[in-house]
Amino acid sequence: MDKPPRVRFAPSPTGDLHVGGLRTALYNHLFARRHRGRFILRIEDTDRERHLEGAAAQILKLLRVCGLEPDEGPEIGGDFGPYVQSQRLQIYRQAAGRLLDAGHAYPCFCGSRSEAQRSEQQRALGQGAGYDRRCRTLEPAQAKYRMESEEHVLRLKVPLEGEIIHRDMIRGDVVFPLADVDDQVIIKSDGFPTYHLANVVDDHLMEITHVIRGEEWLSSVPKHLLLYRYLGVKPPEFAHLPLILNEQRQKLSKREGTGSVQAWFQRGIPPEALINYVALLGWHSTDDRDVYSLSELVDAFDLTRVSKSGAIFDAVKLEWLSGEHLRKLNTDDLIQRCKPFLKDTEFSEIDDATIQMFIESIRNNLHRLDQLSGLLKPFSLKPPPPDAESLNWLQTDAARRLLPLLTNRWRALPQPDAEALLNIVRDCGKETGIKGKDLWMPVRAALTGMTTGPELRVIITYLGDRQAIDRMAQACDLIQ
Ligand code: GLU
Repeated sequence: MDKPPRVRFAPSPTGDLHVGGLRTALYNHLFARRHRGRFILRIEDTDRERHLEGAAAQILKLLRVCGLEPDEGPEIGGDFGPYVQSQRLQIYRQAAGRLLDAGHAYPCFCGSRSEAQRSEQQRALGQGAGYDRRCRTLEPAQAKYRMESEEHVLRLKVPLEGEIIHRDMIRGDVVFPLADVDDQVIIKSDGFPTYHLANVVDDHLMEITHVIRGEEWLSSVPKHLLLYRYLGVKPPEFAHLPLILNEQRQKLSKREGTGSVQAWFQRGIPPEALINYVALLGWHSTDDRDVYSLSELVDAFDLTRVSKSGAIFDAVKLEWLSGEHLRKLNTDDLIQRCKPFLKDTEFSEIDDATIQMFIESIRNNLHRLDQLSGLLKPFSLKPPPPDAESLNWLQTDAARRLLPLLTNRWRALPQPDAEALLNIVRDCGKETGIKGKDLWMPVRAALTGMTTGPELRVIITYLGDRQAIDRMAQACDLIQ
């Protein structure tokens, strides 16, 4: 690369950040960092109908949470601002004016003709879908005159024949017959540019060298390349990333929850894990490694190894990676991240040392922080009645023999700490010949009402000997 690249993430603020958007931002960020270039955030808010207040700020916030801080952008500034398209309208109007003057664009007054009228006429003329180009042949003087008083849009005059050959960094050569390309609207009747014009003008003025974006924009490439040509400027390189699909091979949707970045964070997937996972949606390194930190991704990522075929979103793998990242966090960090997930539980007020003790006891089973309240149930001071499996264990012959014996011995202990209580379980096991699960499951069931959970030593330490002995006694009453 002769000079450092400039790449951009250019979301439209129409809702919360999609997992596909996060991947686009990530790949741009990785490419910029890898080649010591600049990563730019540009907000493409020219679609006023779909614009959602606050969405742009939320996107920037999520990028920051993920460690993908842009080098230039809204709130951050830079030499190529403003970075919000609705603040650049004059720039697009000038560009559109140049296209109009040079005969590469024309005003269209068909807005008032109904869709039904248009498609009927198109059918009669044997034309396919898309605009029927009725205004393309208007007399220029007459068109100019009508522009003064009539509502209109500006359209790009796409050549009627020929083809555009596009060389994509990921997809290779793609040929677009121009006959299939519509005369795209570039300025809408509200005076706002469409995505196509604003995007091309800004990529040029912001000196973007590489456009890395989702495959859904590939079909826009011929329009964009024509715009670059007619504006007399060199297009950037393009890389179109494969679609992200769900297991049914449909587009990943935010509505189902799997497509929404925010929804994963709410479920307690740490940003490190989500970043790691989305990096693998369409890319893998030569050694097929899975677990990466962001800085390791910067070193390993290579845009030319991104695949062409759609990537399937696998929530199980994401959760597995999430567990790996949670285990790598340092304890203090993990404690702080756990706190919001303990807020509405009976553990909302516990101190850091106890949280630490809790998480160490369940760390190997933790994949999402929203599992905390479930995994910590065995520590509850208000346990629900024993579940069905626990009841089974409590009603075995072994339990009926063991539990009363244990209760009496526990009660008789002068210093009943967790270690002493557990030693008694072992002693009783030896004396009665009850061992393995037959020995330990009834004890666990009596103490927690559950058959799975953290080590009994940790549970008893937290509950305290009184509580442990009382629960054992209650279990005895239950099975008598
Ligand atoms: N504003 C477009 C989007 O919402 C950007 C497409 C592009 O990167 O060119 O995804």
